[in-house]
Amino acid sequence: MSNMLVQRPTTRASAPKPQSILIVGCGIAGPVLASLLLRFPGPASSLPHITILERNPSLTSSGQNIDIRGIGKQIIGLLDLEDEIKRSTTGEEGVRFVDENNCCWAEFAVDKSGKVETGTSDVEILRGRLAEILLDKTKRDSKDVQDRGGKGVEFIFEDSLMSLRQDEKKAHVQLADGGERSFDLVVGADGLHSRTRKLAFRNEAEGCLKKLHMFAAFFSMPKEDEDGEWRSWFHAPGGISIMLRPSGTKEKSTVLVLLADKTGIIADQLAGSERSVSAQKKLVMSKLNRIGWQEQRLTKAVETADDFYFDVTAQVNLTKWSHGRVVLLGDAGYCASPFSGMGTTLALAGAYHLAGSLVNNPSSHSQAFEAYEEAMHPLVANAQKLPPAMPHLIHPQSTWGVWVLRILVAAIYWSGVGTLLFKWKGPPASAVKLKEYGLLDEKGE
Ligand SMILES: Cc1cc2nc3c(=O)[nH]c(=O)nc-3n(C[C@H](O)[C@H](O)[C@H](O)COP(=O)(O)OP(=O)(O)OC[C@H]3O[C@@H](n4cnc5c(N)ncnc54)[C@H](O)[C@@H]3O)c2cc1C
Repeated sequence: MSNMLVQRPTTRASAPKPQSILIVGCGIAGPVLASLLLRFPGPASSLPHITILERNPSLTSSGQNIDIRGIGKQIIGLLDLEDEIKRSTTGEEGVRFVDENNCCWAEFAVDKSGKVETGTSDVEILRGRLAEILLDKTKRDSKDVQDRGGKGVEFIFEDSLMSLRQDEKKAHVQLADGGERSFDLVVGADGLHSRTRKLAFRNEAEGCLKKLHMFAAFFSMPKEDEDGEWRSWFHAPGGISIMLRPSGTKEKSTVLVLLADKTGIIADQLAGSERSVSAQKKLVMSKLNRIGWQEQRLTKAVETADDFYFDVTAQVNLTKWSHGRVVLLGDAGYCASPFSGMGTTLALAGAYHLAGSLVNNPSSHSQAFEAYEEAMHPLVANAQKLPPAMPHLIHPQSTWGVWVLRILVAAIYWSGVGTLLFKWKGPPASAVKLKEYGLLDEKGE
């Protein structure tokens, strides 16, 4: 796999002067960027000094089910993580549209060859598990560089960015614990609500969050025999849908509750208490009331969940992803929303292109950032183009609308046009080919 992506360069790019790079966020994009930056050609002592700052105390192996597609899988191959990730997948067999009696109206199986991007990818994994694998990989790469005389990666957990200012020479940051540090470059890989973006882009970032008027709640619950290995997708009137999915373990199933909020009532209800988990849980439990499918089980699971997560769904639309010495990566710069099925793939591709652009432009971060933006724009534009039905047409308000939706998906299933539809409008994970940068697939001593 890695040979497909990386050709050994015939001439090596000249190694840049070691740069100090702060990566804010140790989710998906952050650790991948660090690992790829440690592949700069040249001796270990010439590699960048990387610091990763993560606000959480540690990573948990749970989190929502996410998928890796197309070029995202190529990058995983480049990192030699294919086997480990395949061993950690959730094993989801496909998606079933079910009704109140758990009757299946239509089912769309995963394409295990990975050639057709159906709703279920052949690589489905819990976000936390993926983040854990990526962090372990970065730690191994860092140790390897340190053993060869380089600085490797410094990890700072349980701290976050408080302020950021730049001058001609450096970007200066202040951390929540009071520490002050200066770096050549700062990469904001801190997700949808990125503080790096707010601090560096200020007014330019205002209004960049395009809300999709849909909230998402995620949690897990003890698995029951009938849960099986398929994703069950249930729709209820009021713009509610629930996905019950395998977690890859015998112990638990995962749940995603999607709540349409076209009129802004949920946003109003939560106003002022957006960050209160108990207010969020209360709201979700009220929506589950009388849906007629697994109601008691789901309500109890919300009440007791210790991994409950709730957020607005949105896209990030910015015309530029860099500002001086600061650059945005992954959801922070170009979140495409969970409905794109492309968030993880964009985070991986972004890390690859940013690392490659820095290798190719060792003496100018501005040129490197321009090259990164140029390489990523077509992919992001493709990913952010949601199919016309996403997300509100598949979240009907009325009982009648739910019936029409079920009849429609059944018609797609029975007519056999599902594969054609996925080929036409499936996530565009291979629509843009990866550019070659000559990042080494082995240590560059
Ligand atoms: C419900 C749901 C379902 C999804 N399903 C899919 C899917 O099927 N397929 C798919 O491809 N994508 C999916 N996604 C999207 C995917 O999870 C993200 O696109 C992906 O995780 C983005 O990676 P990232 O590294 O950019 O950001 P994140 O994974 O969000 O990581 C950001 C990191 O930054 C840290 N951080 C935040 N602020 C600070 C701060 N101030 N200081 C320090 N650290 C900070 C956070 O703790 C986090 O660790 C889904 C998302 C959601 C919410």
